Amino acid sequence: MEKVRCLIIGSGPAGYTAAIYTGRANLAPVLYEGIQPGGQLTITTEVENFPGYPDGVSGTDMMDDIRRQAERFGVDIRSAVATKCDLSERPYKFWFDNGDEVEAETVIICTGASAKYLGLSDETKYAGMGVSACATCDGFFYRKKVVAVVGGGDTACEEASYLAGLASKVYLIVRKNYLRASKIMQERVLTNPKIEVLFEHNTEGLYGEDGVEGAHLVKRKGEADETHYDLPIDGFFLAIGHKPNSDIFKPWVETDEIGYIKVKGASQSTGIPGVFAAGDVADPTYRQGIVAAGSGCKAAIEAERYLAENKL
Ligand code: NDP
Repeated sequence: MEKVRCLIIGSGPAGYTAAIYTGRANLAPVLYEGIQPGGQLTITTEVENFPGYPDGVSGTDMMDDIRRQAERFGVDIRSAVATKCDLSERPYKFWFDNGDEVEAETVIICTGASAKYLGLSDETKYAGMGVSACATCDGFFYRKKVVAVVGGGDTACEEASYLAGLASKVYLIVRKNYLRASKIMQERVLTNPKIEVLFEHNTEGLYGEDGVEGAHLVKRKGEADETHYDLPIDGFFLAIGHKPNSDIFKPWVETDEIGYIKVKGASQSTGIPGVFAAGDVADPTYRQGIVAAGSGCKAAIEAERYLAENKL
């Protein structure tokens, strides 16, 4: 097996920032890009809230910039996906889908999270053209417009409340006849005059010429009074949960009930010596690129200290 001092898994803002720091610290990091090179930011419309880009930047361009910055410090970037690991003892072992096998003294897990989608082909068709899974990222583009949010949990209520501050009208599409969200979030949504909750509704498709112009909805699906109708909207936001990409690490590191990797206190340590987690895979709360980058930096500094303290 190939031996490395620092192995970074994932190529979003957390992974690349960890790469920049560990590269500059001469740890000769090796980074595996994973399934979605550049991470979730490459699928958002435009990034306007990442400091340093006063005119905004496309997510793809920003990730290209950060990648090039990492390459400047000699980071070895490889395109493959980790399929299995053994974190029972150091050096930690990893297997990749291209056949690579790597032993690492330190590991920084930055595999991110993926928003869940309904599975409609129209979600792909209108990706970046009216379909979004992040209100904080894309809500700004819907000022004074009409949007719909799908979901009945805390995220959906939070996103609907956030969007109500920008949009002229927000529909909340809920498949059951109640909200699963906490009482306080429910109250916030139900008392907001800009939000209309559509209980017992499902989305069957989207329509529009050059972007989303509306959704095909069905009310009380499967019941005798099942009704189909079209709802004109400019934006369609998914808020039906995120899935942290932590499956291969679960046998070794502690996760919460959803699968987010737990880190110790204010550190990025997983509790396994020399194994750190950064970015969305360990962040159920903020899920922002800038926060991911910051945590990637912290994990890198901690990895560097760990190697120095253990003379590795
Ligand atoms: P949840 O799993 O809590 O809720 C998902 C929602 O999406 C549910 O209403 C669910 O409906 C709905 N849903 C799932 N699949 C579909 C589908 N295929 N079609 C239509 N609707 C669907 O996810 P959240 O992201 O909202 O929250 C995750 C966790 O994070 C929770 O524990 C939550 O409490 C927490 N959180 C807390 C916040 C806070 O405290 N401020 C903010 C955000 C999240 P159904 O109810 O029918 O299953």
